[in-house]
Amino acid sequence: MTLLYDKEFRVFWTLCGSDGNNAYLVVCPQTQESVIIDAPMNPEKLLEQAKGTRVKAILITHKHRDHLEGLKEITDATGAPMAAHAEDAADMPVSPNILVKDGDTITAGTMEVKAIHTPGHTPGSVCYLVSNHLFTGDTLYAHAPGESHGVEATQQLLRSITEKLLVLPDDTFLLPGHGNGSILGAFKKLYRAWVAEYPDLLPPIPEIPPSHLPG
Ligand SMILES: [Zn+2]
Ligand SMILES: [Zn+2]
Repeated sequence: MTLLYDKEFRVFWTLCGSDGNNAYLVVCPQTQESVIIDAPMNPEKLLEQAKGTRVKAILITHKHRDHLEGLKEITDATGAPMAAHAEDAADMPVSPNILVKDGDTITAGTMEVKAIHTPGHTPGSVCYLVSNHLFTGDTLYAHAPGESHGVEATQQLLRSITEKLLVLPDDTFLLPGHGNGSILGAFKKLYRAWVAEYPDLLPPIPEIPPSHLPG
């Protein structure tokens, strides 16, 4: 379990689940309210960390089984509502209590969690952004996009990644559903090199309008 610390919130990470899954707990230190991101099997360590906190929501990145096998355990322990995107909801073992849409904000204490709909890996894949921490599920890993099946899904995934994620600042922490974390700037560098090599296959990272730049 690694602890990342930011003035506004704490992030706990645990490796668990049936496919080497990452699950996260994000806590507001002022109010001890928290959210859990993804629900893999055997989430005991995460629940241990969640104990002194009030879990406001269990935020699911997408419908795949390995991200949901611990849902009952987490729901039983916390009583928190489960949130997911409508386009993945029908294939989930239980119906989400909250349906999130692109741009929705979930509040826990002083933290604001922004839902970013990133279809491609699945139609209802969602990334969650808390300040400069981006939880990407299986949409984007540290060194590669997630899996997609078929040309259309691959194009959709690349559009989601370039248009909605790679436009975020370079110092954004990238916290995926599997494997190591990274920072977005490192992935952008990799991606730009791939675009230079395969300009016909890969969409470029859009120019960010000046009004969206920080400061
Ligand atoms: Zn998946
Ligand atoms: Zn997965």
